[in-house]
Amino acid sequence: MLQGNLIDIYKNEGIAIAAFKDLRLRKGVTCKKCGSREHYWLTSKRQFQCKHCRFRTTLQSGTVLEGSKLPISYFFIAVYLILKKGNAFTIQDLQYHTGHKYYEPLYDFARKIRHYLNDNEQNGILIDFVEISNQQLISLQTPARQIHHEQLIS
Ligand SMILES: [Zn+2]
Repeated sequence: MLQGNLIDIYKNEGIAIAAFKDLRLRKGVTCKKCGSREHYWLTSKRQFQCKHCRFRTTLQSGTVLEGSKLPISYFFIAVYLILKKGNAFTIQDLQYHTGHKYYEPLYDFARKIRHYLNDNEQNGILIDFVEISNQQLISLQTPARQIHHEQLIS
């Protein structure tokens, strides 16, 4: 179901951010200050802003990525590799696909993602993952992003 080149889509940080935002919006964003679930998305700041009290919520806040300083793309790369490889997944795989030098932050990161995948229904995540990927693929069908599209079909 998952194509090997899907992972390449998420190595683009802009796409990963858009996809993570979509993933979050499926569950909804709740304002920590007033409890409202209506938000604007501030593209340049990569934050949600409450429509009622203007309180801002970062993309990572309240998610498995809370406190992470690693790129959002690492989330999808890790989810992809863990779902695909299962117990055969290694931090070296993650290092290879992210190009990240340091083992330690990736180890902690992968541990969090594994917990996240164990706590959530994996098929659901997989379906979301593929659906969101398809949406991102559709958004790639524009001349400005032709290069990525060509990579996907090669
Ligand atoms: Zn609010």
